[in-house]
Amino acid sequence: MQTLGHLINGEMRTDAARTQAVFNPSTGEESKQVALASVATVEEAIAAAEQAFPAWRNTPPAKRAQVMFRFKALLEENSAKICEMIGEEHGKISHDAAGELQRGIENVEYACGAPELLKGEHSRNVGPGIDSWSEFQPLGVVAGITPFNFPAMVPLWMYPMAIVCGNTFILKPSERDPSSTLFIAQLLQEAGLPKGVINVVNGDKEAVDVLLTDSRVKAVSFVGSTPIAEYIYSTANANGKRCQALGGAKNHAIVMPDADMDNAVNQLLGAAFGSSGERCMALSVAVAVGDAAADTLVAKMKAAMEPLKVGAYSNSENDFGPVITRAHQLKVNGFIDSAEADGATVVVDGRNPVVDGFDNGFFVGATLIDNVTPSMSSYEAEIFGPVLQVVRANTMEEAMQLINDHEYGNGTCIFTRDGEAARYFSDNIQVGMVGINVPLPVPVAYHSFGGWKRSLFGDLHAYGPDAVRFYTKRKTITQRWPSSGVREGVSFAFPS
Ligand code: NAD
Repeated sequence: MQTLGHLINGEMRTDAARTQAVFNPSTGEESKQVALASVATVEEAIAAAEQAFPAWRNTPPAKRAQVMFRFKALLEENSAKICEMIGEEHGKISHDAAGELQRGIENVEYACGAPELLKGEHSRNVGPGIDSWSEFQPLGVVAGITPFNFPAMVPLWMYPMAIVCGNTFILKPSERDPSSTLFIAQLLQEAGLPKGVINVVNGDKEAVDVLLTDSRVKAVSFVGSTPIAEYIYSTANANGKRCQALGGAKNHAIVMPDADMDNAVNQLLGAAFGSSGERCMALSVAVAVGDAAADTLVAKMKAAMEPLKVGAYSNSENDFGPVITRAHQLKVNGFIDSAEADGATVVVDGRNPVVDGFDNGFFVGATLIDNVTPSMSSYEAEIFGPVLQVVRANTMEEAMQLINDHEYGNGTCIFTRDGEAARYFSDNIQVGMVGINVPLPVPVAYHSFGGWKRSLFGDLHAYGPDAVRFYTKRKTITQRWPSSGVREGVSFAFPS
């Protein structure tokens, strides 16, 4: 059986002291093993990245960008292969994997603009004969730690920008679906990146802890669940590192009585059940304003969910695939059980669906639960499965209060035809990414991505303009070249 290794200093390596099984969630079978890096292996990767830094730092940004142009072309040429890898280990259907990859490629395109993004700021004559400018210098060795649910896209949020800014990078991908992530990093190497600029160490907490504590690592980007994000942020900070740690979510959609209900239903279907609900921007709660709107919404959702197909990644006619592991399948089922036990109404039950020919896959069917209340544990937690819960509210204010009171603040959306209501909502909702009749308001690559509250620890969001700030240090230089023969007198006053 194949064991996936690491990419260190331009070479593929296997550190096989410890390994972990990688599964095909559509069949439930173990498909390969992944090496779990030891402390020594991670230290080797850090040393390689540190050695590569001085030359890469001094490589002109336009030359760095040229590597990204070639990388983009290689990603496009290899897209079918990458989508197959994502499907086999994550379970995404090809149309969904292709969407993820495309969103990742858009971040590479943004990174191709490095010379423009790194131009800095210049002010002539800030005083007589004095000019001042700010430039953005790379930090050194930086690290990224990524989740299972976007094995191609989330790493591409991080290292293209970090690298074009002049840093060298160590990626610690999810150990649950590592193949596409490792393959994509190999493509970047093939695009002409000098050895040691990108390194990938597969592994678990042991590898992560080295990246968090080694003083040669200057900054850490993390995307994953909130408890781990909090741990990463506090540990990285305690070790003097810059850190951005993006966490979990519970994304609510408000459905107003004046909404185009058929459109809202179509949008909710994709946003709640696409990728089996394993998206940090998945809509997992619909808050219907007024019982009439709730009754219509539930009836229409129930009818629209009937033809939905859950199944193996390899059949592109399926709407969505399995969840990532057997343990996660049982956890999602457990949340449906608990909602039912707490008095909610399971309108469409996706527990234990029959998927012909894939009896051992980790499948959960699309599930709709009505009459959910905020005190239920299924409402409080991020379920991360194909489960849409309906909460009934009397007014828009009540619906907004629910969202503002929730610990997470990643994404949200309102379905309405009322511009005034939509504007009030986007102005006052305590959430980082807001949609108006747009169910998955994932910002494009030239904006930045990030939630509020316990969905993000740190100050700067991921990718886009914030990534330039996160992966660089500002240096401001003030310069005077006195005319020959001119001497300044002594002054003890603060310069003004
Ligand atoms: P996870 O937190 O279990 O794992 C994320 C990464 O942390 C992995 O690389 C993993 O190996 C590592 N890790 C896990 N436990 C660790 C520990 N104890 N110490 C150190 N490192 C550890 O997350 P996941 O299950 O892979 O991904 C799903 C979660 O990610 C969901 O909560 C989802 O909302 C979140 N997510 C958030 C965003 C966002 O942008 N906010 C995007 C994608 C996913």
